[in-house]
Amino acid sequence: MSAAALKQLDAAAAEILAQYDQKRAATLPLLRLAQDTLGYVSPAVEQWVAQQVGVAPAHIHEVVTFYTLYHQQPVGKYHIQVCHNIACALRGGDAYLASIGERLGLKPGQTTADGKYTLSAVECLCACEQAPMMQVNDSYVGPITPAVIDTLLQSPEQLTELPLLYRGTVGLQAAVLSARFNVRDAEKIETYVRDNGYQAARKALTEMSPAQVIDEVTKSNLRGLGGAGFPTGKKWSFIPKDSSKPKYLVVNADEGEPGTIKDRYLLTKDPHRLIEGIIIAAYATGVRKAYIYIRGEYAYPAKVLQQAVDEAKKYGFLGSRIFNTDHTLEIVVHRGAGAYICGEETALLTSLEGGKGFPRLKPPFPALAGLFACPTVVNNVETLACVPSIIQRGAEWFAKLGVPKAGGTRLFSLSGHVQKPGLYEASQGVTLRQLIDAAGGVAPGRQVKAVIPGGISAKILRADELDVKMDFDSLIAAGTMAGSAGIVVMDDTTCMVRALWYAGKFFGHESCGQCSPCREGTGWMFKVIDRILRGEGREQDLDTVLSIAGNMEGRTICVFADAAAWPAQSYIAKFRDEFVYHIKEKRCNVGAQPAVAAH
Ligand code: SF4
Repeated sequence: MSAAALKQLDAAAAEILAQYDQKRAATLPLLRLAQDTLGYVSPAVEQWVAQQVGVAPAHIHEVVTFYTLYHQQPVGKYHIQVCHNIACALRGGDAYLASIGERLGLKPGQTTADGKYTLSAVECLCACEQAPMMQVNDSYVGPITPAVIDTLLQSPEQLTELPLLYRGTVGLQAAVLSARFNVRDAEKIETYVRDNGYQAARKALTEMSPAQVIDEVTKSNLRGLGGAGFPTGKKWSFIPKDSSKPKYLVVNADEGEPGTIKDRYLLTKDPHRLIEGIIIAAYATGVRKAYIYIRGEYAYPAKVLQQAVDEAKKYGFLGSRIFNTDHTLEIVVHRGAGAYICGEETALLTSLEGGKGFPRLKPPFPALAGLFACPTVVNNVETLACVPSIIQRGAEWFAKLGVPKAGGTRLFSLSGHVQKPGLYEASQGVTLRQLIDAAGGVAPGRQVKAVIPGGISAKILRADELDVKMDFDSLIAAGTMAGSAGIVVMDDTTCMVRALWYAGKFFGHESCGQCSPCREGTGWMFKVIDRILRGEGREQDLDTVLSIAGNMEGRTICVFADAAAWPAQSYIAKFRDEFVYHIKEKRCNVGAQPAVAAH
């Protein structure tokens, strides 16, 4: 590294370090800074970051190799990252990946000789409504078509960030969370303030006590919308009031569950709603510093969000003496670096502290020992985005929008074989069938075959189970889960062995590797599914997969292993004949798809 480059980096690093209460937490942003400046993370960069944050270079090297967004070699001027997870695969993503590779003469992982293009196959980018899609440098591009590929290869500078596909509400009198998605310049503070923005925060901070805010949120029946469904008011009440340690609010914006797109919409279209929710939550829990951990791939949403935070600071909604009260709040936007497991709350915290995204055993729960071992509330973006409406319109109004044990509405992501994929808002009591109908159903002449109701981890439902309500408890009663409300619809052209292959590949790739049942189990399970798909399955293979899955459940540090087991168990239970056919006949009995893996 030249002296001039080093001087420039040092100056930028000082600004980043100043945002964090502990130096190590600046590890990920410093690596990003150096990579953006120098093109890749060399051993010299690792050394430099280690010096900045005061750890051994070996620790930084471990971090670099854990996350997918750090490059240890230079990449091409245009880095093409094509999604090859389930939602994109259902719409031809793998064929486009192959076509781009063929035209460039590249296999995934390779760079053209002139250094112009690098091609990568990546796991879900959470833009499933625009499938098949890809990321080119920082931009999300899609849906991929032959014309888009022509532009990519002839004039890539003309590619633009894909627009949002908000489709409206289903069965609601009025939108709540998506009320401003069609408003022009909704993300700007002037329009937010014009639309009565920050009035709920003003009300909470000047007219209510923290206990009253928690009480109101508890009565609203708001539950964690990241997927866990834990009652939000109760979670806030666990934060000790008398702790001598600082308290933190960490916002989980690390959306990564395949099939899910909702937080990207909130972050991009209505970031001030989230910031207002954070202000209220921080006031209720006595927090003075909040970190928003946003997935590394979300470059554009992160930019919009950072602008919104800067605006809120300028308007006096952040900083000291907010609304002339004693309440102080600082928000830091922190970008991840490409690891699905960081969506798990304890992994998110270890990642934010500057380490590999390793989940921690619970207890202790984050409410007592979270970020930097201090009391921490971890809330999802959508959960916090509900809070201003609860304070403004009351718990009773909010509770009535949902079902008895889950108040309010949700943002549902619809992708796969529906005719109108996109984002929809509906009550938690909406049925899966209503949502699929709103999304135009499947193509004429086709039938729904299977549906993932809440992200790829959720157990699959068959066509005869579509009348289930989409709230947490109804879906548990139906043997699956609401998860992140990412709905992936598959029609009768879908090979279920292939569908499970995508799930298996994903979990094998994303296991953090700490626990043997998960590390070994996900890889082994995928190996067996892969050979069934290739027409090399053995008679005992289904028993083997189910035995591996059974040995993964409930035996690991976090629920990732369970989540990896559920698809395998449910696909085999509900579509066993198809798996048996693959094994016996060495081919697929659905459509024209051969029993050959994509790789
Ligand atoms: Fe990591 Fe898997 Fe263990 Fe979770 S279950 S800690 S992802 S190895």
